[in-house]
Amino acid sequence: MTDSVSLTGTGLHLAFGSNRVLRGVDVHVDAGKTVTVIGPSGSGKSTLLRVLNRLHEPDAGDVLLEGRSVLRDNPDQLRQRIGMVFQHFNLFPHRTVADNIALGPRKLKKMSKEAARQVALDQLELVGLTNKADSRPGNLSGGQQQRVAIARALAMEPQIMFFDEATSALDPELVKGVLALMSDLAKGGMTMVVVTHEMGFARSVSDTVVFMDHGAVVESGEPEQVFDSPETPRLQSFLSEVL
Ligand code: ADP
Ligand code: MG
Repeated sequence: MTDSVSLTGTGLHLAFGSNRVLRGVDVHVDAGKTVTVIGPSGSGKSTLLRVLNRLHEPDAGDVLLEGRSVLRDNPDQLRQRIGMVFQHFNLFPHRTVADNIALGPRKLKKMSKEAARQVALDQLELVGLTNKADSRPGNLSGGQQQRVAIARALAMEPQIMFFDEATSALDPELVKGVLALMSDLAKGGMTMVVVTHEMGFARSVSDTVVFMDHGAVVESGEPEQVFDSPETPRLQSFLSEVL
């Protein structure tokens, strides 16, 4: 695996018109660690991920990789270092599974067709789907498609992985396999920022849990602290609704 790196957001602010979606967010993930972000819908979790990989530019604050600001770099460079997995996998339906994965390495890393196919097959093996290489995405279950989307992100050899509610669109019986894969990645030393409603995953896999509400980090800490001894009424009431 590519060397993982630390990522820091400091004092991040972002407003859409009069809607102040991020109100001074600080977040840090050490190299090789996993931070999960929890919080109610609309609290700014997805926007935070998008600011951290510069799909949105913050109004104020900084984003640092390995302690170095990346806000002046070419955003494409940063995005190649960060793999993203979303709720909706957005695989190309008319391409095979292997081609979906090989596309990034071919286009962005200028790999030969053969080399990119080998990368795709290697990644498919990692996610346990070697036998689906030449299938169309539509013939796979949602859980399998999401594992392909993870393989596609990994094929770019990212230094950090972002997951935004990667299991929220899946049927309940398919969630486990995807979470197990994410857990394996975390244990393998990938730096990860995971937005999730899966509190069991947040508790068992993350090094740090960050609770956001109304565009701010209200509480953060080790999972035991956040889940077993929430300090603020807002986190207490959030947990009483989701646990
Ligand atoms: P979460 O992921 O925690 O549910 P989001 O980050 O998606 O929250 O959204 C936080 C707020 O930002 C919401 O009020 C949402 O409507 C608003 N928002 C998100 N993206 C945009 C956008 N591109 N343009 C305008 N408003 C947005
Ligand atoms: Mg969201």
